[in-house]
Amino acid sequence: MVADGTDERIDPPEITTDAIMTLDDPRFAPENVAIVTGAASGIGRATALVLAANGLTTVATDVDEDGLEETTTKAAELGVEDRLETIRCDLTDDAEIEALVEEAAAIGQLRYVVNVAGMQYISPIEEFPMERFDLIYQVMLRAPMYLSKLALPHIRNAEDGVGAIANMASVHGHYVTRDKAAYNTMKFGLRGLTQSIAAEGDGDVRAFSVSSGYVKTPLVLNQIEDTAQERGITEREVVENVMLGQARTSEMMEPVDVGNLFAFGLSQHGKHLNGGDLLWDGGYVNTYE
Ligand code: NAD
Repeated sequence: MVADGTDERIDPPEITTDAIMTLDDPRFAPENVAIVTGAASGIGRATALVLAANGLTTVATDVDEDGLEETTTKAAELGVEDRLETIRCDLTDDAEIEALVEEAAAIGQLRYVVNVAGMQYISPIEEFPMERFDLIYQVMLRAPMYLSKLALPHIRNAEDGVGAIANMASVHGHYVTRDKAAYNTMKFGLRGLTQSIAAEGDGDVRAFSVSSGYVKTPLVLNQIEDTAQERGITEREVVENVMLGQARTSEMMEPVDVGNLFAFGLSQHGKHLNGGDLLWDGGYVNTYE
């Protein structure tokens, strides 16, 4: 440790080619299309970059156009810009979701959808604004359902009918913490939707979810600085004692780690993963002090 505590700071991780897991899969080819939501930031961006690096034509979508531009810049740095398309879409608008799927399906064979977009709102239930609950429902549960409904016929239309829908759940899809009623509810719901898609997918069209603990995204990293200042502790202490207190690890995951999990689950190596959840949480859910 140095006197000014600089090495205690947690920096947003850069995605490098070395950190991306590449998988052997004949379907991971430019004629096949994956839609990734929430791709202007954090986990969604990393997932879009990982899938593009794995050879898929990836449609990175988000409501945040500036963020999507940054995703394109990052794709160019990684040399995968030819395989990344961006389409702006507000997931609260059905017409925009319909246009997104239509455009993505016109680019190539739509086979994969990864639902990552999400948001948090902290409030006790008695004070929870219902319009906020409705918005979180629309983005985090209704949009994944509607995207699946629209994408499934395209996936089934592929020559071999093989594809998958993947959903970003969370440890909050397994247990809950207080004051996050909407988030907890949508993550549990998303796991129910995942299993429902698997039930109707007949094995060729699969569905799975990924549940991580805290991931180093801008959203989480900004909270670290504020919490450190509020509590008068170092950023490292915030991570180890406050955020990862319940886990068996002292390191948060990086967005690219989550992107790699999605790539693995979508690939032929994940062909028996159907309705299941990749709980990659450093021991959060299944251990107790
Ligand atoms: P983030 O805030 O960095 O990214 C979320 C993205 O969703 C943003 O780019 C935002 O613009 C987009 N979005 C919000 N509303 C939208 C709308 N109406 N239409 C289209 N896009 C919209 O968050 P993140 O940390 O990368 O989290 C992404 C997902 O991962 C979320 O579902 C979150 O619940 C989940 N998750 C995150 C963590 C974590 O520690 N960061 C842990 C577990 C699960």
